[in-house]
Amino acid sequence: MKRIILALLVGSIMAFSLSACDGAVRKIVMRTVDPYFHGPNIDGTAFEKVTDRIYTFRWNWYRNVVVVTDVGLVVIDPMNAEMSTELKKELDNKFPGRAVHTLIYSHYHLDHTRGGAVLAPKNVVAHEKCPVYWQAVEHDGVLEPTRYITGDTTLDIGGVEIRALYLGLSHTDTLYAFQFPSERVLFTADMGLVKTVAPDGVPDRYAPGYLAAMDRLIALDFDTFIPSHFGFGVKQDLVDWRNMMEDGRRLARDAVRRYGGPGVREGQMGDYFDTVYPVMKEKYGQWHGFTEMFVLNVVRDVVGEALGY
Ligand SMILES: [Zn+2]
Repeated sequence: MKRIILALLVGSIMAFSLSACDGAVRKIVMRTVDPYFHGPNIDGTAFEKVTDRIYTFRWNWYRNVVVVTDVGLVVIDPMNAEMSTELKKELDNKFPGRAVHTLIYSHYHLDHTRGGAVLAPKNVVAHEKCPVYWQAVEHDGVLEPTRYITGDTTLDIGGVEIRALYLGLSHTDTLYAFQFPSERVLFTADMGLVKTVAPDGVPDRYAPGYLAAMDRLIALDFDTFIPSHFGFGVKQDLVDWRNMMEDGRRLARDAVRRYGGPGVREGQMGDYFDTVYPVMKEKYGQWHGFTEMFVLNVVRDVVGEALGY
């Protein structure tokens, strides 16, 4: 079913490109998607202190965390070699002579797990199912874990309690969020952003499990919320993001109920748009990327609600 919809989308883009002037499709892509990923406070790097124990490093639209413990540093998600190289410079400058004791992967996705070798960690921790996915794809640059974990796991490293919270089938079934109770901080990977809409409907998202995971995290006691992309904020930002995602789903569900599943009626896309867009625009029109990502997000929500994922 997904393939049929994809084929229809690709087909309509090809038909459009044949009838449009040279480069028209490219221009649409650049005008819509590109500004989501680039701009002031997105491009470049920033290394910031969050608490005495926790720092966060941003490289372009990616963000990870560094934990300062009594036995060395803990890094969650190296992302890629370029980002790790920039982070290593910051660590050598800020914490000279202090090694990376443990590198943790939040989930298996390759954009979060490459480049770890640059940090030369003594230990590498990941969910036990990660290798199943890595084996199926080209995964050069992923440093092999030294320890696999499953389910909720508390890591006590150098006097800091790190609660790795297993989030089930949500954004892959290898996903962890990380709570630092002493610092009142929560770090999430690909779950929640600060006043920013989702990119591409959040790739690899199983919406029912994703909602359950967000609700579980919102029930925790923390003040500072650090997501793995763009800026960081406070707990209310995660609550607002959950509500935004669920508003999108609810409206998409209404649209499918009213106008049928994708592809069965003429003018359907316009009807979906009229059902979802005005309400979302009113509530979230000021968020970063609203206009740029709207079509990608509504297509994801409509297909997801029609198929049940
Ligand atoms: Zn991911």
